[in-house]
Amino acid sequence: MSSHTVTSQTHDSMFEAVLARLDVAAKIMGLSEEVAQVLRNPQKEVKVSLPVMMDNGKIQVFEGYRTVHSTHLGPSKGGIRYAMDVNSDEVKALAAWMSFKCAVANLPYGGAKGGIKCDPRAMSVGELERLSRAYASAMKDIFGVNRDIPAPDMGTSGREMAWILDEYNKITGEDSPGVITGKPLAVGGSLGRDAATGRGVMVNTLAALKKMGLKPNQVTAVVQGFGNVGSHAARLLSEQGIQIVGIGDHTASFYNEKGIDIAAALDYVAKNNRVLKGFTGATEIKSDELLISKCDVLVPAALQNVITEENASKIQAKLIVEGANGPTTPEADPILHEKKIICVPDILANSGGVTVSYFEWVQNKAGYYWTEEEVNTKHDLKMEIAFEHVWQNSIQFKTTMRIAAYITALQKIEQGVKLKGAF
Ligand code: NAD
Repeated sequence: MSSHTVTSQTHDSMFEAVLARLDVAAKIMGLSEEVAQVLRNPQKEVKVSLPVMMDNGKIQVFEGYRTVHSTHLGPSKGGIRYAMDVNSDEVKALAAWMSFKCAVANLPYGGAKGGIKCDPRAMSVGELERLSRAYASAMKDIFGVNRDIPAPDMGTSGREMAWILDEYNKITGEDSPGVITGKPLAVGGSLGRDAATGRGVMVNTLAALKKMGLKPNQVTAVVQGFGNVGSHAARLLSEQGIQIVGIGDHTASFYNEKGIDIAAALDYVAKNNRVLKGFTGATEIKSDELLISKCDVLVPAALQNVITEENASKIQAKLIVEGANGPTTPEADPILHEKKIICVPDILANSGGVTVSYFEWVQNKAGYYWTEEEVNTKHDLKMEIAFEHVWQNSIQFKTTMRIAAYITALQKIEQGVKLKGAF
């Protein structure tokens, strides 16, 4: 067992799991205790109640959250999640990850995250619009183009971003497109943003395969999740010649050792309420078989805590590229490490989304918009530099890619904390 992974206890709290990894990285790199202490305590945590008129004429009150973890490298940045399991601990963990992710990708941002405890699939479009506007109104003093900049996350998309922007603009009386990213193109979004997180997964996968001496057309991949991240990742990986043998979402999982036609799967979900259930291009398998099925590359791109101490030893992939946030528990890390599975961690692997969100913000501030090719070229270069930086740190500090990514982030944030000082 390595001292470079977390082994001592299980972590019921997601934020505790983040801190456990932070502590491991801090020890290896010699992070000052003062800075570690600053990062163990989020700067601001807000919880709001959102009364919304439902279609049945009754008021329902929803819980909304926003946590700003750090602003040492710039305004805080992080998505808004709509899901039933949203809670303050999860939002705090995701906010801290955003601080590390922005630092790894070398973006001038701190980290934040927000969420609403709701089931968006069970709500009408009108209810979702009213809920999103209520959230924007409640967060008007937190958000700001140079203060805190939200974006989409699980259960939200450009649609919700446009409502939140509109509500914010109405309240402030100004047009501030840069206050939120991941917007539809017509209201100040960036070309390439929709696919950016999946694109980052693809660039990181190719960079890791190169280090492993493997060519894309020699390998197979399984992708869990077929939403924004998973579907674009599957498409872009297959366009690079990687054979996608497994896909799955919350409704069904599929495997085909001869390869799945991803264009057909995308077409299927577009026509079937965005879900895979009923897809006939592969054999349906049990959802818990997907992650442990035969493949070279595994891309968890759905939920957190899906690679655990129960299934880690059964994983057959040589490379894991974490499209989702927190898909691997700290207890699974040492098992993967012992099996010599390379894991490109979430804070690096899925940082393509926030990287293009940053480009969107820059374009909004400049009022000048780039071509998709410009966005993708700039994105790919930033991702390749970030991957190489983490890879080199993993060699220098003789540690896993995950801990090396934390070290890379902490090296930058430490400078921000020290240079800006305290009261
Ligand atoms: P999404 O809502 O678009 O898609 C989520 C997908 O996960 C859907 O296909 C859903 O069916 C699937 N899913 C849900 N429960 C599942 C289950 N039990 N088993 C299998 N699949 C299940 O969300 P997204 O934006 O693609 O986000 C996915 C992950 O990526 C999240 O962890 C999110 O935090 C992370 N992420 C997203 C972005 C982004 O730009 N969207 C950026 C960075 C990280």
